[in-house]
Amino acid sequence: MAGRTASEPAPRPVRISRVLRLSGSIASMLLLVDLDGVVYRGTEPVPGVAAVLAARAAAGDDVVYVTNNSMWYRADYVARLAGMGAPVSPDRIVSSARATALYLRDLEPPVKCALVVGGAGLVHELNDVGIEVVLSGDAAERWKANGRDAAAAVGQVDAVVVGLDLDFTYARLACAAEAVRAGARFVATNRDPVYPLEKGLMPGAGSVVAAIETASGHAPISIGKPGPLLLQIAAHAVGGDVAAAVMIGDSLVTDVPAAVAVGARSVLMLTGISKREQVASLAVRDQPTEIAADAVELAAALDRLARADVRA
Ligand SMILES: [Mg+2]
Repeated sequence: MAGRTASEPAPRPVRISRVLRLSGSIASMLLLVDLDGVVYRGTEPVPGVAAVLAARAAAGDDVVYVTNNSMWYRADYVARLAGMGAPVSPDRIVSSARATALYLRDLEPPVKCALVVGGAGLVHELNDVGIEVVLSGDAAERWKANGRDAAAAVGQVDAVVVGLDLDFTYARLACAAEAVRAGARFVATNRDPVYPLEKGLMPGAGSVVAAIETASGHAPISIGKPGPLLLQIAAHAVGGDVAAAVMIGDSLVTDVPAAVAVGARSVLMLTGISKREQVASLAVRDQPTEIAADAVELAAALDRLARADVRA
């Protein structure tokens, strides 16, 4: 190798992870994509977004879906997203339920048995990583039958895992709170206060979590957005660098703050709950990197971010 003369500039340090993601002159990106309000609204696709994501995936981007919704199993999303033309496979769905399962699996010591206050999808995700589940509904039945002895009704569990539970009851609350007080780890899939449906707002997982927090006197670890864990776990699951990712979401309350928390860039989609006027009232560091009103503007925003990666 030829020596460098004194007049030659020293080579710039190269970030290997970034160089490896370069393909030709276009940088491929890790796209962390929220679902409701971005890819679809309720049962209706947001026009053009699935096609934009499919084009990005075909060009080499990694598309991973990150949703706070904890009620469904990964496979439930695959048919729905594929039917809309979005690029998808089960390992590209990291719901708060899946992320919670991965988080518990990787704890030291790992969680072996959990009391679950939540939906079937959450139970399925925990089972998938080998965690034994005690259903809060079953514990509640034992509690009613055994003279309200919550400790006996639950048995020995390492964790209490809480998501949105449409069948939440006082008895389930009593069992979960007792297990937390007895020393089980308290893990929330997310703390969304409400859950929007076509006919209005329903209580979200955060409402259930708050009841257990109040009754137990202990605060949970929360996996979902706006905290950093969901995005970190999603990036880790595909071997990506979360700080180099782009979060695409419709919420200034969850999606954009989560991106800020992990040092990622973000695109705020105006196709869901947050409005353009709300951005100006945020401190600059809390604002999205890009704002897109529709799929056409999303495609343009992602092009700009990809070019910024090449220049970096
Ligand atoms: Mg959303």
